Amino acid sequence: PVGLTPTTQPAGDGLREVIIIGSGPAGYTAAVYAARANLAPLLFEGSVTAGGALMNTTEVENYPGFADGIMGPELMMNMREQAERFGAEMVRDDAVEVDLAGDVKTVTDGSGQVHRTRSVILAMGSAYRELGLPDEHRLSGHGVSWCATCDGAFFRDEDIVVIGGGDSAMEEATFLSRFGRSVTVVHRRDELRASKIMAERAMNDPKISFIWNAEVTDLHGDPKLTSITLRDTVTGETREVATKGLFIAIGHDPRNELVVGQVALDDEGYVQVQGRTTATDVPGVFACGDLVDHSYRQAITAAGTGCSAALDAERYLAALD
Ligand code: FAD
Repeated sequence: PVGLTPTTQPAGDGLREVIIIGSGPAGYTAAVYAARANLAPLLFEGSVTAGGALMNTTEVENYPGFADGIMGPELMMNMREQAERFGAEMVRDDAVEVDLAGDVKTVTDGSGQVHRTRSVILAMGSAYRELGLPDEHRLSGHGVSWCATCDGAFFRDEDIVVIGGGDSAMEEATFLSRFGRSVTVVHRRDELRASKIMAERAMNDPKISFIWNAEVTDLHGDPKLTSITLRDTVTGETREVATKGLFIAIGHDPRNELVVGQVALDDEGYVQVQGRTTATDVPGVFACGDLVDHSYRQAITAAGTGCSAALDAERYLAALD
């Protein structure tokens, strides 16, 4: 690690104070706080997508402290370095198995090595559902987005398309109508899944129109999105629609695979925490970021709860000693 050396090393028997799983804003922020509290955290970053969701985006304009904005990957590398500076240890590997019950918990990495720890912070994030189209990743951050709050302002006076028919699609469309010249909602079926109030709000918005029974089959444009192909799910007919901004709002899945059956999850699979804390129903196990968050899903809120998780873990450990 660069800079300060932690004063608390893992005990001789390899028992850690805290292991953090996940490397987005929540995990790295938890690592900064845990490292500065001399807990010498070990953080599993993941073998493929270290750095979390913001590694897939371009400019982040709403993270406080960066008046001119900052590129997503740069923001994440800064957080990582900040945690390393205080002695957090990063592992470019997945946590593939955990045993969270009992005072000593175990986390198994991709090579089969078992790490023992007194507390665990879960920060695995959530995955935005994708359309599964070939050019989707290439155009992500170049006209294709999963977050209106994050990217809406880039599409002022444009003709924007939103994919989806649930509450989040209606919320995105209504929000985007502040910016766009027009917003077209494309939905696979002929009726919305969204709640009545959200659907009515969108339908009464003069800037929002709907294309029913349609799915996106192709994305066009290089380097930026210029149009999409829609296929009518009833007739099979296709047509091209010009747009520079496509928002995909077909749902999120919390990355809970690792902990199913071990900590309480809510109906949608998010890890449940107690009140305003980050405590799960298992003593010594804390959860933060998009893994617990239905409603905000922002880098700053993930970082905020990552901080809370480290403080909660620190207090839990202090109370044990
Ligand atoms: P994540 O960032 O999702 O990070 C979790 C990480 O943990 C991932 O890298 C994952 O691979 C890893 N992981 C999961 N399971 C394991 C495991 N078993 N072992 C090891 N590692 C694991 N928010 C904003 O505030 N502003 C923006 O401009 C903005 N733009 C966005 C643009 C895009 C394209 C996307 C997708 C999101 C954007 N967001 C933005 C939302 C923001 O990125 C998320 O709210 C935030 O990253 C959530 O942080 P997190 O730490 O909870 O999880």
